[in-house]
Amino acid sequence: MTDFKITIAGAALLLGSMTSMAKENPNFDYKVDRFADIEVLRYEVPGFNSLTLQQKEMLYYLSEAAQWGRDIIWDQNGKYNLQLRRILEKIYQKYDGDKNSADWKGFDKYMKQVWFGNGPHHHYSNDKFTPEFSRAFFEERLKGLCNKCVGAKDDKQRAEIVATITDYIFDPAFMPKKVSLDSSADVIANSSVNLYDGVTQQEVEDYFAAKKKPGDPTPVSYGLNSRLVKDADGTIHEQTYSLNGLYGDAIRHIIYWLDKAKGVAENDAQRAYITKLIDYYITGDLRLFDEYSILWAEDTDSDVDFVNGFIESYNDPLGMTGSWESYVNFRNRESTKRTKIISDNAQWFEDNAPIDPQYRKPHVKGISAKAINAVMLAGDAYPATAIGINLPNADWIRAQHGSKSVTIENITEAYAEASKGNGFREEFVIDAPTREMMDKYLYQTDMLHTDLHECLGHASGQLAPGTDPDALKENGSTLEEARADLFALYYLADPKLVELGILDNPEAYKAEYYQQMMNGLMTQLNRIEPGNDVEEAHMRNRQLIAAWTLDHAKKSKAVQLVKKGGKTYLKINDYKELRNLFGQLLKEIQRIKSTGDYAAGNALVQKYAVKVDPKLHNEVLKRFSTLDIPPYRGFVNPVYTPEYDKDGNITDVKISYTEGYPEQMMRLSRDYSALGKK
Ligand code: ZN
Repeated sequence: MTDFKITIAGAALLLGSMTSMAKENPNFDYKVDRFADIEVLRYEVPGFNSLTLQQKEMLYYLSEAAQWGRDIIWDQNGKYNLQLRRILEKIYQKYDGDKNSADWKGFDKYMKQVWFGNGPHHHYSNDKFTPEFSRAFFEERLKGLCNKCVGAKDDKQRAEIVATITDYIFDPAFMPKKVSLDSSADVIANSSVNLYDGVTQQEVEDYFAAKKKPGDPTPVSYGLNSRLVKDADGTIHEQTYSLNGLYGDAIRHIIYWLDKAKGVAENDAQRAYITKLIDYYITGDLRLFDEYSILWAEDTDSDVDFVNGFIESYNDPLGMTGSWESYVNFRNRESTKRTKIISDNAQWFEDNAPIDPQYRKPHVKGISAKAINAVMLAGDAYPATAIGINLPNADWIRAQHGSKSVTIENITEAYAEASKGNGFREEFVIDAPTREMMDKYLYQTDMLHTDLHECLGHASGQLAPGTDPDALKENGSTLEEARADLFALYYLADPKLVELGILDNPEAYKAEYYQQMMNGLMTQLNRIEPGNDVEEAHMRNRQLIAAWTLDHAKKSKAVQLVKKGGKTYLKINDYKELRNLFGQLLKEIQRIKSTGDYAAGNALVQKYAVKVDPKLHNEVLKRFSTLDIPPYRGFVNPVYTPEYDKDGNITDVKISYTEGYPEQMMRLSRDYSALGKK
């Protein structure tokens, strides 16, 4: 699982009051670009220059492997995305007209949005972008492009491509949504992701139901690395992502660089799992992926680490196929002391969780937690990224072999630094004492919330024997995120954290409670267009928790929405009671997951997580409009340049932070295009 965390104003809420920040350069410039609802930042990589040459070399190779997967996520997100990108970039590159014209400005904005979405759909809302340039402008620019430039071999093919891409850009009814979770209709037919072709939701469910062996204690992650298609003759089969299968032209490069990384691995354990990963990429065999995942999860010694593969399934409406992503990173030793205390005490947290004892894990297996600094973000993790990751995802591996949980420290820090003084809390927090409490503790409790969510929350609990792990279907991601969040929220208020020396004030949790409730009830609505429902799983989870507790606090008045000067504010009267409610909801959601109670899960999601109060929504949007806080943020990566001696050996790897956003995108397209070039 990955977590995008902070909520509204993408982490705009973090304010830097934490003393242990690792900044190297006090004048580091975090801000790179701003357009539409997006702000692009850069992040510093503290400690990179002090790594050993072997570590830097390994990070460089892994970064190359990461960047070679870029085209895969574009194609997974939509079957016309690579064609679209090539045409837009050609126009972007060749344009020599008036750069102050409305058409050009609209085109420039659209280009940047499409880069950010790895396709023409919003990375978070899943809605297609609306172009703010005219069809005539686009058609005029197309005239200047050769057949090859639009990816066509002759005039006939050109006409087809141009017609499709023009519709893709300008027809709002054509592939309008990347992922649709509307369970009243066929979620496959209504999602434009390129993970299925020609099959209905029922056919997908039947296909995989036939493959699953009931009672299999170690099932592979069915559908994780394949596209399910129906042929002209009506047969349904999987196109596997592998060296000689789908995306082989990109996977070949990934394998090449992984192999280089293997040559400078830190130890045998690391070499062993890189070998497995390469074997899996060659064959597409999901058993090898599980073997790799186990070896990877069990390696807690290496400082250099990475994720590279088809991992998270949020972009699949049925939650099976993994989107390609890569994170390259190394351990942040100082901050890892905190996460180590938490993971060392994992069994205590499990034993005391407010859930039915039969759904607790009797023996929590090897939860390892660490804080890391990201070195390269790629695929579905770029430009928008998570700040916490907990992998592997397979339930049985987590239960039998444990999982690895990370908090990405330098990304969290970049969010916090870039948010200083943006006026958000002055506008939305009810009073000065609450603001002061948040200023003082939120950076700390946010980091801790991520630790607890990733390291303990996702890793906690167990399924009842025979429960299908996919039983919650389209609500699976939302309920799993709610479970992890509730686990974190419940324990943030536990005296155990003070006892363990992780928090110095037993009241600090209130900052996080206020933040989470305010966000779930109000401020995250800044990310929703007027009239729309809440769609994204993490957002649904946050609203589910906040709206459910508000509803169940009616009698006790522990939590209320109140009016002050015509504005709505969250008022928390009884934090202890709020904690009890979090515990109750955790118990119910754990029961739902453990027993695969789809009906109860769906009822919770439909009642609390989806619908928006239009009046409150408008008010929130209006209040935000006075602040100019970008709802979403993402990152450009640093650029790594190896230096060689005369024999071709790497002698150093230089890091630079100067590349701009369009420059980075155009460079990646130029140097790492692997697919769709026939
Ligand atoms: Zn999560």
